[in-house]
Amino acid sequence: MSALASVERDLRAAVAAEVIAPSAAYLTDQTEARGLGGRADAVALPHNTEEVAEVVSWCYAHGVPIVPRGGGTGYAGGAVPLDGGVVISLERLDRVRSFDPLLWRIEVDAGVRTAELRRVAREGGLLFPPDPGAAEQSQIGGNVATNAGGPHAFKYGVTGAWVTGLEVVVPPGEVVQLGGALRKDVAGYDLKHLLVGSEGTLGVITAAWLRLTPAPEAAWPVIGFFDGVRGGVGAIERVVGSGLTAAALEYIDSETMRYAGASFPGEVPGGAFAVLAEADGSTDEAARIRADLLDVFGEDALALYAPESPQEIAALWRWRDGLALVVDAQRGGKASEDIAVPLDRLGEAIEASLEVGRSFGIPACSWGHAGDGNLHTTFLLAGDDDRELELAPKLSEALFELALRLGGTISGEHGVGFVKRNWLAKQLGPRAFELHVAVKRAFDPQNLLNPGKKA
Ligand SMILES: Cc1cc2nc3c(=O)[nH]c(=O)nc-3n(C[C@H](O)[C@H](O)[C@H](O)COP(=O)(O)OP(=O)(O)OC[C@H]3O[C@@H](n4cnc5c(N)ncnc54)[C@H](O)[C@@H]3O)c2cc1C
Repeated sequence: MSALASVERDLRAAVAAEVIAPSAAYLTDQTEARGLGGRADAVALPHNTEEVAEVVSWCYAHGVPIVPRGGGTGYAGGAVPLDGGVVISLERLDRVRSFDPLLWRIEVDAGVRTAELRRVAREGGLLFPPDPGAAEQSQIGGNVATNAGGPHAFKYGVTGAWVTGLEVVVPPGEVVQLGGALRKDVAGYDLKHLLVGSEGTLGVITAAWLRLTPAPEAAWPVIGFFDGVRGGVGAIERVVGSGLTAAALEYIDSETMRYAGASFPGEVPGGAFAVLAEADGSTDEAARIRADLLDVFGEDALALYAPESPQEIAALWRWRDGLALVVDAQRGGKASEDIAVPLDRLGEAIEASLEVGRSFGIPACSWGHAGDGNLHTTFLLAGDDDRELELAPKLSEALFELALRLGGTISGEHGVGFVKRNWLAKQLGPRAFELHVAVKRAFDPQNLLNPGKKA
C-alpha cells in the first residue's frame, strides 16, 4: 500500500472525524485560475473542536502536514495543500454557539459562512460589518485567518477589529482560548491578534467571539463617473478631505467598466472611471452624507447614479460583488492581487499596475477598495494557454515590487499564502522577518501547520 493511502487509512482508524480520500474540491482555491493546484493524502471533516484536536494530535505525532481549509475562496493559495498532508476542512463546524443581541455579541463555530453570520446578526437588528465577496461560501474561520476586509472595511475596519476571542487548536493538539466575550483585554501579549491573519500557519481556529454593532437605519450608495484615473482619484481624495464618513469608497477603472458596464443597473458614460461610495447611519445622517457625496462628486463627474429603492440598491451591490466573476469570464484565467498603498499614491499605483499588463502584452484591469488604498489589479490570462499562465508569477511580482516602491504592502486583505511567500522578507526587512519566523517556530516547532505558506 502506498504511503499516501496509509495516511488516509491510519488516520481514519485513529480519529473520530470522518476521513475521506482527497477530491479536487479540496485541492484548490481561487488561484486555480492561475494554474495552482495541490495534492493531499487525506481530508478530515471534523464536527467539533475535540475532533479537530484529535486530528492535529495525530498529524503532529506522525510528522504529517496539516492544511486548514475554510470555504476555499482565498486568492493566495493558502488553503491549497502544496505537497501532501491532511486537509482539515472546517465546513461541519457550522453552529452559532450563542447570540446575545442585547449585548451586541455572538459566538460562532469557525465553519459558519460569512453570509449566514451577517443574516443572523441582521435578524437581531445588528451588523457584522466585514463583507468580503463570496460571502455565501467563505467561512468566519477563513475570514479571521486572512483578516479579510471588503468594501465596508473603509468605515468599519477589517475582520480583526470585530474579533474579541478565539478558540484555537495549537500544536501538538491542544485547545486554547484567547480572549472571549470581552470588549477589552490587555493582559499578556496579544496572541489573539497573532492568530488573526495567520493563514493556518499557527493554529486551527475552531470558534470566534465577535463584536456586533447596531445595523444602520439607512445605507444609500452613490456612484460618480469620472474622466480617467486622475479624475476619479481626485474625487476620492475630495471625499476623504471633506471629512465625509462614507461607509464604503470603491473604484472601478474604465477597463473593468468596459467588461462590466453592460450589466450595470443604470446609464454608464463610455470610457469612464467609476467611484462608488455609500452613505449610512440614521436616516437623517445617511441623507446628509448622501447629499454631500453628490455635491463632492458633482464638481466634475461626467454622470451620477444614486439609487434609492431597496431593489435598485441591492442590484447595484450585486453588480459590484459580481465584478470578479465578470472579469474571470473574459479569458478563462487570471492573476489578481491585492496590494495596498498610502492613499496619496493610489492614482500612481493604479496607472503603474495597468502599465505592468501592457509591458507583458496582457490585458489588465483594476478595481478595489479606494478609501483603503487597496487595489485589485487583475491580469486576464488565456486559461488554455500554458505560456500565458506561466506569466502569472512575473506579473504578480511586478505588482509587489510596485507596492513596496510606493511605501505599500504586498497584501491589503487576501494574505501571503503561497503566492507571495518570497516577498514577506523584502517587505518586513531582516530583523522583523526574523521575529516573524520566531513566532512561527514558537507555535509550530515542527513546521507542520500549512508549511510553505506565509513566510
Ligand atoms: C468573488 C470574490 C470576492 C472576494 N472579495 C474579497 C474582499 O472584498 N475582501 C477580502 O478580504 N477577500 C475577498 N475575497 C477572498 C476570500 O473570500 C477571503 O480571503 C476569505 O476570507 C477566505 O475565506 P475562506 O473561508 O474561503 O478561506 P480559505 O480560502 O479556505 O482559506 C484561506 C486561508 O485561511 C486558512 N484558514 C481557513 N480556515 C481556517 C481555520 N478555521 N483556522 C485556521 N486557518 C484557516 C487557510 O489555511 C488559508 O491559508 C474574495 C474572494 C472571491 C472569490
